[in-house]
Amino acid sequence: MDEIYLNGKFISRLSAQISIMDRGFLFGDGVYELIPVYNKKIFLLHKHLNRLKNSLDCIGMSDIDGIEDIIDQLISRNTSENFFIYLHVTRGEQLQRNHIYGKAIEPTVLVMCEEYPSYDKDQIKNGFHACMHEDFRWLKSNIKSISLLGNVMLKNHASSNGYYETLLIRNNKLTEGSASNVFTVKNNIIHTPKLSNELLPGVTRDLLIDLIKNNNMRINESDISQEDLLASDEVWCSSSTNAVVPITMVDKHQIGSGEVGNISLQIYDITKDFIKNY
Ligand code: PLP
Repeated sequence: MDEIYLNGKFISRLSAQISIMDRGFLFGDGVYELIPVYNKKIFLLHKHLNRLKNSLDCIGMSDIDGIEDIIDQLISRNTSENFFIYLHVTRGEQLQRNHIYGKAIEPTVLVMCEEYPSYDKDQIKNGFHACMHEDFRWLKSNIKSISLLGNVMLKNHASSNGYYETLLIRNNKLTEGSASNVFTVKNNIIHTPKLSNELLPGVTRDLLIDLIKNNNMRINESDISQEDLLASDEVWCSSSTNAVVPITMVDKHQIGSGEVGNISLQIYDITKDFIKNY
């Protein structure tokens, strides 16, 4: 875990340095990806790299060459079996602090291995509590931007009040969580907000939609109002760190029976199986 890749070199995490004039440091001018590694095998790499390309495109940056090779090297140098590849690309160093970026800047590329806890089945069966907040982030949340201050504030709003996640509401519509996408179930039909500039196109969201369809269940990508959310039979959050996290309370409102629902558990099991056999 100690070895990282920075701008062409594999070095130790503590010896790595970037310039104070890096636009990532000064402006949050960059994008990132977080990709799971299960049993030494990178998970859904091409979906993550496609999203990275899209994020880079949206901010006027070109694709980064050789990423797959760097990831392979980091995985083989790492003694752990299960971890995450954190990939961070900024526009690079510019000698004057200026909102306007120059054309010939070399991007800063950082790739490192990170560990995040994943919940066990008992924790999943117990369920988690969430709160709601107005989604005050910018209107380009489809870009996986390293400028995460809004998400950081909203995630800390949850954790400092004892909640797992903050579910975000904009114009009375559920967008996503501060660090996850959201699914709901009503009368056995699964719903998730449709993709737009207001939410991240989660790789796990995409996988779950495929798995749901392949298992002949109904999924609806459409608007979910705050009232719909609170009247749901089941709610779960999805992300690469924990694919399915059932939510049994939202603020003071009990979701469904207040117990983790069968569909949430079924999707959790199907996803675990998919990961096991990947
Ligand atoms: N939405 C936000 C704001 C996130 O930060 C994340 C993950 O970090 C997600 C959704 C889930 O995306 P993925 O499933 O690709 O991890």
